[in-house]
Amino acid sequence: MPTAGGDAHSQAEERLAAVDARYTSKRKALVEVFIRSKRPMTLPEVIAANASLAQSSVYRNLATLEAAGVIHRIVTSDDHARFELAEAISGHHHHHLICSMCGSIEDFTLHPRVESAVAREFAGVAERRGFTTNAHQMDLIGRCAECATAE
Ligand SMILES: [Zn+2]
Ligand SMILES: [Zn+2]
Repeated sequence: MPTAGGDAHSQAEERLAAVDARYTSKRKALVEVFIRSKRPMTLPEVIAANASLAQSSVYRNLATLEAAGVIHRIVTSDDHARFELAEAISGHHHHHLICSMCGSIEDFTLHPRVESAVAREFAGVAERRGFTTNAHQMDLIGRCAECATAE
């Protein structure tokens, strides 16, 4: 879902406007944290990343950004939800390695040839089932290198 010529901030602003929410300086600072982050973050990690962010407002603003489709919540088996920029905002399509022991999440990408084969396969499934789709999610669940070594 590429938006013509906009960077992450202007796209975030557009999406918030679509749900009648303003792109406040606090929300902007929050999005900036995600732009700079190399991987999905837990709420405590987000708060630690910018000292000017207060816990209560981060929680509320994350919920607003999530509802507007700016931030994506990754559901894992542990208690800590992790958040990242929605792919429509980051423009970075990727998959995740999710550790079911410690809950860590790392991004990875598939070779473009494999990615387009997967996309074709999924498009075929969707078409046969009369399902309309514009995105897919596919993550590996298991044990990260650290947890595998610790055991
Ligand atoms: Zn782990
Ligand atoms: Zn993919």
